[in-house]
Amino acid sequence: MSAFLSAAPPLPAHPDPELAAILGSGLPHELSYALGGPFHLLLPDRFDANAAAFRAVLAEAGVEGRVYYAKKANKAATWIERCALTGTGVDVASAGELRDALGCGVRGEDIVVTGPAKADGLLRVAVLQGCLIAVDALDELDRIIALGRPARVLLRRLPPAQPHSRFGLDEGELETALVRCRDTGLVMEGFSFHLSGYDPRARAELAAELVDLCLKARALGLRADRISIGGGFAVDYTDAEHWERYLREQRPEHYHAGKSFAPADFYPYHSPVAGPDALRAVLAADGLAGRLREAGVRLLLEPGRALLDRAGCTVFRVQGIKDRAGYGIVTVDGSSLSLSEQWFSSEYLPDPVLLSAAVVSEPYAACVGGATCLESDMVTWRKVRLSARPAVGDLLVYPNTAGYQMDSNESPFHDLPLPPKVVLDTAGDRVRWRLDRHPLA
Ligand SMILES: *Cc1c(COP(=O)(O)O)cnc(C)c1O
Repeated sequence: MSAFLSAAPPLPAHPDPELAAILGSGLPHELSYALGGPFHLLLPDRFDANAAAFRAVLAEAGVEGRVYYAKKANKAATWIERCALTGTGVDVASAGELRDALGCGVRGEDIVVTGPAKADGLLRVAVLQGCLIAVDALDELDRIIALGRPARVLLRRLPPAQPHSRFGLDEGELETALVRCRDTGLVMEGFSFHLSGYDPRARAELAAELVDLCLKARALGLRADRISIGGGFAVDYTDAEHWERYLREQRPEHYHAGKSFAPADFYPYHSPVAGPDALRAVLAADGLAGRLREAGVRLLLEPGRALLDRAGCTVFRVQGIKDRAGYGIVTVDGSSLSLSEQWFSSEYLPDPVLLSAAVVSEPYAACVGGATCLESDMVTWRKVRLSARPAVGDLLVYPNTAGYQMDSNESPFHDLPLPPKVVLDTAGDRVRWRLDRHPLA
């Protein structure tokens, strides 16, 4: 067991028996053979369930509101198609995202447009389609006014607790914006913010301030009947015990080439309050739910990662394996560009799972490299305990990657093809699959 000495502490993703059954069915090997490279699996039923769980929290608190999927978290069409069918809104930040949402059947009135310094083309289509535009700057507001059409806007608040944020309007700019909205007859529907971090209390505090701002705006004759609290609902990837142990024990010897990471740079892979529970905590803090009801203010939210929780995974094929002192170096048929956490001086920590043909197996520690010529192209820097020494042709499955991991940093570097997305339809009595976007479409 010498190959075990330097393995990093285990960090298994929460068990997912339904997905494990699919992974054990032989389907991933068939897909790997058919597609000839790494691929992503998508589970749209999970997305639907996550959106419904957020809506249930709003209903339970007696708060009128709306869930918008923050599209940047994953580019697949399937999520947007589900949004169109289930009445979930979509949050877009570019002309391409807006086009895609409209093309997948989402109505303009169900789209919120965020992002800084929006391009004129984006603003024009957004106004023509009746989208709700979260205004980030005064000059942007002027460009909307210059279009000379009725436009629906929210004013994005610069978070006072994050004064260095480059997004939103400060207090003085808000005053100016309100007067301009009044004087030009824009449909000023309310205010918005998007906070970094995952603290429910910080969201509740700023939301309460926005409710007060709505009352003030109404005194100017503006509609101001909704606020958007953005996204940032944490995802809980693993349990507290494994997470705390990982943070306590991880050290450079656990990583290939003695690589070191600052624990503060890791995503908080365990969150005691996550997803819809985090929304419940926001609504409960400072009696926010009651304040929204009394003021007649609707609550909009824009979760990205949290709607994709457990809604996908990423499958690589083992292409080579080398034994080094105390651990192995596995090379897979893709690159770390398909696991975007690796590009934020961090590491995607939920452990990959080996799908191996080996019958008899002894655990084996290995890091995972991409099939490129860059030393730094590591899909996993740490030495993970795998269930066996992988063989060429085995598969490595990275769990719960739909939120941001799949495609925010992808590139066909080295002429490696981008991993296709395979949608799993689990509704019937057998699992069926299709490509998310047909390559010829
Ligand atoms: C990125 C972003 C979101 C989504 O954030 P998550 O952390 O994925 O929930 C929502 N709203 C805005 C304005 C964003 O920029």
